[in-house]
Amino acid sequence: MTSDPYLTPLAASLPDTAPFIGPEQLERARGGPFSARLGANELGFGPSPRAIEALSDAAPDSWKYCDPSAHDLRAALAERHGILPEQITVGVGIDGLLGTLLRLVIAPGDVAVTTAGSYPTFNYHVTGYGGHLKTVPYQGDMTDLEALAETARASSAKILYLANPDNPMGGMHGPEAIDALLAALPERCLLLLDEAYIETAELPAPDMRPDDPRQIRMRTFSKAYGLAGLRIGYGISAAGLIRSFDRVRDHFGVNALAQRAAIAALKDEDYLAQIRQKIAASRARIAAIGESFGLRPLRSHTNFQPLDCGADGARARAILRGLEARDVFIRMPALAPQDRCIRVSCGPEAEVDIFEHALADTLAELSQRP
Ligand SMILES: *Cc1c(COP(=O)(O)O)cnc(C)c1O
Repeated sequence: MTSDPYLTPLAASLPDTAPFIGPEQLERARGGPFSARLGANELGFGPSPRAIEALSDAAPDSWKYCDPSAHDLRAALAERHGILPEQITVGVGIDGLLGTLLRLVIAPGDVAVTTAGSYPTFNYHVTGYGGHLKTVPYQGDMTDLEALAETARASSAKILYLANPDNPMGGMHGPEAIDALLAALPERCLLLLDEAYIETAELPAPDMRPDDPRQIRMRTFSKAYGLAGLRIGYGISAAGLIRSFDRVRDHFGVNALAQRAAIAALKDEDYLAQIRQKIAASRARIAAIGESFGLRPLRSHTNFQPLDCGADGARARAILRGLEARDVFIRMPALAPQDRCIRVSCGPEAEVDIFEHALADTLAELSQRP
């Protein structure tokens, strides 16, 4: 908390916390680089070579402002999804889009509903705009759609957030369940579907229905497309809500290089197909490694594999610290009882090898402790 006199009362009331500690910060603190970077759900296999080529081709034009309407990218996305460019807005990753959307829909005191322990950026922006968060616990490590809808009804919520597939637990609900959720929501509650991992999911995505103003979905180039560092994502909804983003968004936020690389990545469908296979294979391998050491793999639709360490948060944290001491970066869920798990991002074989050895050493060390 700070009492700087020039802050708004709301800003002055916010806690001094950041939702993420980046691996770079951990590396500085421990005084050396990680040899396996398997914690931030990045694409360790790297982006499409065509995206890299587009970046270097575009680099000399960096003196130009980007196209603030992202016309070509929105046209490419519209074609891919069979919708209209007017139904798409681009933003600085899903994280940036969440901030813009919540600025549009949350007034101080409004209620927003989410799952306790799910992806934190939504909560961060709700609080930042003075909204009230209502949270619902996981049910069997899955987001609990009935309880979410019930809470939204009971609290007259403005917006309900659902990461589907979910981060950090990896589970996913199919299209029928999402339809039932929409039907159960109160009249003026917007359903926000965060589909950051939809490209790696093993269930179909819910129907697009871009004309339905009661839902907005967000997608990203950070995960399956491997462009996390460029910061680029998009939202899909009815043209009216999408147009209103123009009232408050950062019009030059999605830079020119990012726009060009995203188009190239989107068009390289063969590469995405290969990546899907690599992710599925890596997920299976991490699951098998976990099982070989008695850690139970959870069903994952994402580019990471949660492993249940079989006890409580202290046990999972000890494993995470042991891995970190052996130069392996992973993350884990923040809240009990999900914090009995660790979360390992898919990545190149060589890094998964390092994880495997580090896990063996860590568990051996922990078993020797009294
Ligand atoms: C990684 C992640 C994001 C962040 O996406 P960006 O486009 O990089 O901002 C959003 N939502 C979920 C559920 C994620 O796991």
